[in-house]
Amino acid sequence: MLVHSWLSRNVLPALAGLGVIVAATPLPASAQHAAHEHGVARLSAALEGGELLLEFLTPLDNLVGFEHAPTTAAQRQALADAAARLREGGRLFVLPEAAACVQRTVEIEAPWLSEVEGARGHDHDHEHEHEHEHAGEVRGHADLVASYQFVCGQPAALDALDTRLFEFFPRLHEIRAERATPHGQGATVLRPGATTMAF
Ligand SMILES: [Zn+2]
Repeated sequence: MLVHSWLSRNVLPALAGLGVIVAATPLPASAQHAAHEHGVARLSAALEGGELLLEFLTPLDNLVGFEHAPTTAAQRQALADAAARLREGGRLFVLPEAAACVQRTVEIEAPWLSEVEGARGHDHDHEHEHEHEHAGEVRGHADLVASYQFVCGQPAALDALDTRLFEFFPRLHEIRAERATPHGQGATVLRPGATTMAF
C-alpha cells in the first residue's frame, strides 16, 4: 500500500532509531480502509536529531468535498488548490520560532492529482506520482497523503506543534495525532478548538 510504503521508508526507520518498538506486521488492507472516516484525519510526527517528519493522511472528501475523478473545471481547481495549500507546510504546521525549523521536502500523493496539475516537477516525481496515480482510491473512497520533512536548527526548543489545517479545510473536524520524539511517544486528538500537540 502507498501509505505503508511511505511509513516504511521514512517514519518507521525514524521511530526505530529512537528505540521505539514498532509492530513488524503491516496493517491489513481492510484495517487501512477502516481508518477512512469522513471528517477525520491522521497526523504522525517523528522527531530524530534535527529532523522532523510529518505525515498527514486524510480522506479527500475533507479537503475538496468529493472522492471521485474530478468532472468539472471547479472540481479540478479545488483539487489543485488543496494540493497547493498542503505544500505550504510552514503555514499549516506552526512550530516554535526558537526551534528554527525549515521545510525541506514535501510530497503529496492522491488520486487524480497528477492529471489536474499536469506534468510538473522532475521527471522522477512525475513517474512516482503516475505509479501511484489511483493508489489512494478504494471502493469509491479516496485518500490523500502529505509527507513533510522539516530540518530544525534547535530541535530541543521544539516543544509543540500547532496546526492550522482546520482553518483551511473546514470539512475536517478531528485529527488523530501521534508523535515519537526523544521525550517519548504519545497520541493526541486535535479539534478546531484544540489545535496543539505537545511534544
Ligand atoms: Zn470516503
